[in-house]
Amino acid sequence: MARREEKLRCTKELYNEDMGPRRIKSIRFSALSGEEIKNSAEVQVWNNRIYGADLRPVQNGLLDPRMGAANKAGVCTTCHGNFSECPGHFGYLKLTLLVFNVGFFNSILNILECICKLLGFCTYLATLIMLSGLSRILLVEDDRKTYLKKMRNPKADVAMKNALMTKIRDRCKLSICPWCGSKNGVVKKTKSSLAIAHDFSRTIDGSKDEVIAAMSHISSKSLHIAHLLSPIIVLSLFKKMLDEDCELLNMSDRPEKFIVTNIAIPTVSIRPSAFVDAGASSNEDSITIILKGIISTNSVLREDLEGVVPPFKCLFNLLS
Ligand SMILES: [Zn+2]
Ligand SMILES: [Zn+2]
Repeated sequence: MARREEKLRCTKELYNEDMGPRRIKSIRFSALSGEEIKNSAEVQVWNNRIYGADLRPVQNGLLDPRMGAANKAGVCTTCHGNFSECPGHFGYLKLTLLVFNVGFFNSILNILECICKLLGFCTYLATLIMLSGLSRILLVEDDRKTYLKKMRNPKADVAMKNALMTKIRDRCKLSICPWCGSKNGVVKKTKSSLAIAHDFSRTIDGSKDEVIAAMSHISSKSLHIAHLLSPIIVLSLFKKMLDEDCELLNMSDRPEKFIVTNIAIPTVSIRPSAFVDAGASSNEDSITIILKGIISTNSVLREDLEGVVPPFKCLFNLLS
């Protein structure tokens, strides 16, 4: 009982500090980075089982008691509150393979259009660029300085900055990177899946004829010289962007947050669990069911990449 009095009191009531009237100057919305999601979470979730044989939530499962009490009988092991006291705590799931955040997919395409994509060409070049730290905006230095000055003008409002960004995007439509001289092509979403291709066939001049001649059995109309920009490559590109270049593209935050590395697992309090059939089974919230599917797929991918199961078994598991 003494321990309950010592602990921090957590309730679901809103916190109102009596500070008098305040005027809100501005509100800024931002995505959380994978590291921020991890740091704000109480537990890493990786187990796709929900209840154990003893009908208690399993450790590192979707109803782990560190994320809150799952029902009236449960107690949160983070704040020691019961179902009505605990406000809930977040968990996180580490993704085996990175994915693009679909909510920012168009923003990712827009940024990629405007930066040097040499990093995506091959591993050797990627290593060189990782060392030299190049992923610059496709503007010549004079233009870059001029536009940066305009973007930093304190009198520029949101509409003016958006109009300026459109101009900058047009100026970035260069066939050659002014910083390293590499080819720059068209960035587009691939037809088959949520992936990004860098198609530079239209910007290839003399070498295109040689390639077409070498591949004469393929119609020149269907010939596209492109490489795939995977989420890992895009993350590397974004990490190598300068803060000033992000500013030029009217971003108030770093673009690497658009690539998902960790998923925030919502608190148990918003997805309660109920026992049915006199406690023989449980009825789970639809969010819990969806997350269970993601965890299962993530585990299958991890096992396959680590070589725990043969590849064909992984494929079978994903299809079934
Ligand atoms: Zn709690
Ligand atoms: Zn370049």
